[in-house]
Amino acid sequence: MTAYLRPRSLAEAVAARAAEPGYLVLAGGTDLMVNANHRPAPAGLIDLWRLPGAGEISLDAERGQLAIGAGATWLQVQRHPLVVRHAAILAAAAREIGALQIQARGTIGGNVANSSPVGDSLPVLLALEAELELCSVRGTRRLPYREFCTGYRTTALGADELVSAVLVPVAAPAVRLFWRKVGTRRAQSISKVMAAAAIHLEDGVVRRATVAFGAVADRPVRLAGVEAAVVGLAPAQAAEAARAAVAGAIAPISDVRSTSDYRLQVAENLAARMFSELS
Ligand SMILES: Cc1cc2nc3c(=O)[nH]c(=O)nc-3n(C[C@H](O)[C@H](O)[C@H](O)COP(=O)(O)OP(=O)(O)OC[C@H]3O[C@@H](n4cnc5c(N)ncnc54)[C@H](O)[C@@H]3O)c2cc1C
Repeated sequence: MTAYLRPRSLAEAVAARAAEPGYLVLAGGTDLMVNANHRPAPAGLIDLWRLPGAGEISLDAERGQLAIGAGATWLQVQRHPLVVRHAAILAAAAREIGALQIQARGTIGGNVANSSPVGDSLPVLLALEAELELCSVRGTRRLPYREFCTGYRTTALGADELVSAVLVPVAAPAVRLFWRKVGTRRAQSISKVMAAAAIHLEDGVVRRATVAFGAVADRPVRLAGVEAAVVGLAPAQAAEAARAAVAGAIAPISDVRSTSDYRLQVAENLAARMFSELS
């Protein structure tokens, strides 16, 4: 029989995690329950759903960061005025995750910890240069999201740790944000390719860009070659430079959802569009 723990505070949750590292952490369950169909029953569950305070969203003005509790659902993320104002592409991605039922139940912490290459929030977190707050009985640490995914569905999360928050720097006014998800249809589809970018445009030229893609590798990726190719260029030239730089930067696979060629072509188009739409 599967044991069931329902902590009433983050302190209780990390204590349970330390005491029972073999138990599965359950948040909204929208990934976990799908996997449950083809995996042996776990020894126990640590249920974080509605853990007090776990879904809070606030602004840390001193650090210039939004703090989004790992338990925040996609509905909360997409509707929260602070997210809409300071991290609009995260709100946009949240609106495209599954359907309403999934958005009401699935959490940002679950998307991050599940670490699927098609997790829609993940390229957004890369492009926004987000950090994670990771908690255990040993204390709390911050880790740049960029260092969290270590491979195909593997992460730097310790066996006794929980994701407690996602910390998103507030974008400066000169920074323009881009997000596109491409799937088989406009809504309720698993991504074939998704792209996110934060582009600092000043005096009509790109000063800096962070460019991230999902579903084109074993994990979400920043494309350093594209980022370097566009610096100092006006949007129209940056669009062509970005398109040209994509081919050397990714080698997507073919799978049930798409072919490698299609993914590459879509990625090139999206890279161009993130700059051409600036003008
Ligand atoms: C029909 C359907 C459609 C979907 N559509 C999309 C989509 O369009 N885009 C997309 O990105 N995803 C989609 N998903 C996947 C899923 O909804 C999201 O990944 C969601 O964000 C998962 O959150 P959750 O709270 O339900 O996670 P859970 O299922 O509860 O957990 C997922 C994993 O994360 C771990 N975990 C959860 N919270 C924590 C924490 N705080 N600390 C440490 N580990 C933790 C769990 O142990 C588990 O391994 C879909 C799923 C379904 C069933």
